[in-house]
Formats: sequence, C-alpha cells, structure tokens
Amino acid sequence: MPIPAVEYLSDEKKKELAQIAKSIVANGKGILAADESTGTIGKRFASIDVENIEENRRLYRQLLFSADKSLANYIGGVILFHETFYHKADDGTPFVDILKKLGIAPGIKVDKGVVPLAGCHNGEGTTQGLDGLSDRCAEYKKGGAQFAKWRCVLKISDNTPSEVAMKENANVLARYASICQQNGLVPIVEPEVLTDGDHDLKRSQKVTEQVLAATYKALSDHHVYLEGTLLKPNMVLPGSSCPTKYSAQDCAVATVQALQRCVPVAVPGITFLSGGQSEEDASVHLDAMNKLPGNKPWAISFSYGRALQASVLKAWQGKAENVARAQEELIKRAKANSEAAQGKYAGGVKGFSSDESSFIAGYVY
Ligand code: 13P
Repeated sequence: MPIPAVEYLSDEKKKELAQIAKSIVANGKGILAADESTGTIGKRFASIDVENIEENRRLYRQLLFSADKSLANYIGGVILFHETFYHKADDGTPFVDILKKLGIAPGIKVDKGVVPLAGCHNGEGTTQGLDGLSDRCAEYKKGGAQFAKWRCVLKISDNTPSEVAMKENANVLARYASICQQNGLVPIVEPEVLTDGDHDLKRSQKVTEQVLAATYKALSDHHVYLEGTLLKPNMVLPGSSCPTKYSAQDCAVATVQALQRCVPVAVPGITFLSGGQSEEDASVHLDAMNKLPGNKPWAISFSYGRALQASVLKAWQGKAENVARAQEELIKRAKANSEAAQGKYAGGVKGFSSDESSFIAGYVY
C-alpha cells in the first residue's frame, strides 16, 4: 500500500494557485516570455546594433509593457528576468505594477541556467538553481509575482536523451514546482526537447512523449498540485536539419497526440515555447492544433519569446522615434497568437520579421 502524502498545501493556497493558472490562459490568452537573461538579450540587441547596457534593457522592456492596453486581451502573463522584475518606467512606476494594473500576471524566471551532465553524450545537461529557491520565491511573491518559470533542455541524437538526463530533468522540475507552490507561485514546467538534429517527426513525437511521461511521473512523486501548474513544452516538429518536409497539420496531429498520451486532464493549460520558429509558423502551428477535432481538455496556448519579439526588435532598432511602431508589432503578433490559441487565426499577418526563422543551434535562454 502506498503511504498517503502529507497535506502540504492548504485548500486556500490550492484555490489561489488554480485560479492564477487558469486566468493566465483564459479566453485565448497566452504568455509573453520577456525573461531573456542579460547575455541572451545582448544577442538580440547585437542583431539591431543596440548596446547591451542596463538602460537599453529597461527602455526595451518599457516599450513592451507600455504597449496599447489591448495587450491584456491577448496576454495573460509576462515572464520577467530578475533585473527587469525590479525595473521602473520613466515615471517611476514599477513594471510589475504596470502589468498588474493591466490585469496581466507578472512572472519570474527562477532557474539559473543549464549546466553539463558530466559523462553524458551530446552535451546533455540539467538546470541549476534549487539552492535558496524557496527564499527567492517568497521574495518574488512579496514583490508581486504570481508565477515562475524553470527551463530544462533535452537533446535528440542517436543516443540521447539518455535515461539519466530524462530522470534528472524531470526530478529537478518537480522539486522546483513543489517549492514554487509552497510559496504561492504557479510553476511553469518547461521540459524543452530541442529541435536541433536531423530526426524526423515520428522520433520527435516519441522523445517528447517519453520526456513528458517522465516529467509527470516526477511531478506525481513530488505531490505537485497539477491544477496549479502550467506546462511549457516544445511543439512536436521535425529536426531542424531533417530532409523531410511536414505540413502544419502533420505537426499539429503529432503534438496533440503526444499531449493526449502524456498530459493529465488536471493540467489547466499548455503554453508552447516557439523554439526558433518564425513568428508566422509559430502562430500557424498553434492554430492548427486548436482547429484539430478530438480530446483537448487543456487550453492550448503560447508562451513565446522569439516569436513575439522578432518583429518588435526589428521595428525598434533602439530608437525612441520607433517605439510606437514597435509596439504595434507586438500587439499585432499577440493578437494573431491569441486567435491561434482559439483556432481562429486566418494566417498571413505580416510584420518586420514574421517569416524569418529565429532558430539558433543549441539554444541558451
Ligand atoms: P522561445 O519562444 O524564444 O523559444 O522562448 C520561450 C522561452 O521562454 C524559453 O524558455
């Protein structure tokens, strides 16, 4: 007989967590992932010749969060990086307060990046950041955060992902999720299977299923309250150098099947990462999944970084006179993705960078 778990979340806390998770993905809303680390945003800035200094990072995030208030019709949560979490707008209003006033949940990236798993093939890794996590979560909650993100990465090659990488990453995600929930933050559980490689769609689906199954086994073992979580998976796509081409419909079928097989009904929402897809592909793929008939008991939505910001960055170019145009790009893309999250995207919304792939091999966030 299994030993019953000790109750560690009060009914009130469970209710709060479930309510936060649900509201982030309500009515076709999704997440804007604006939690690029200082190094990662530096790469984005380099592409538009903007210096990676704190003031430019603040100005850029201010641009995002002060876009037209219709943003809140499409975006239910924004993920922030530590530095941004404490930044203020020109008029002294903390970004967190701007978001809260709009009705957008502020979120925080709490992982400390991927480190190698020694002895494993193909540069497999795990994600660090558990030390002191409970205190950091308590502090972020006090500062207004409602949810958190932690990204793990799995790689496909002939001999990966290894059993140890799958188990280790599932376990660390479950520990993180449990710590977040005890501190009143909804954990976004992100086990990302990278698209790097020449594998076909079938292999991508199988690996995604194995990774999701391992993840939900660990979440169950750690007594994580699934109703108060969100899943942030990769879409099932062929490897970036796979010679076979697949339609959006093929990818949608493979992805939804993987979810149906592995994600419990108790999970309120699935918020996909864009993983280097062009803005338009990320919208079209999401839309195709929502248009598919069949059992989809969760909200199927987005938590895009690159696929919501590529056109914004290109339009901005670091210039004050371009801010309004860049904000229009954000609204346009957020609206397209919100329509896609309801299976209502007609396609073809053009932007400064809508058809360009943002794929980077071995992506670090
Ligand atoms: P992309 O949408 O750019 O893949 O990033 C989302 C994210 O938050 C990865 O952790």
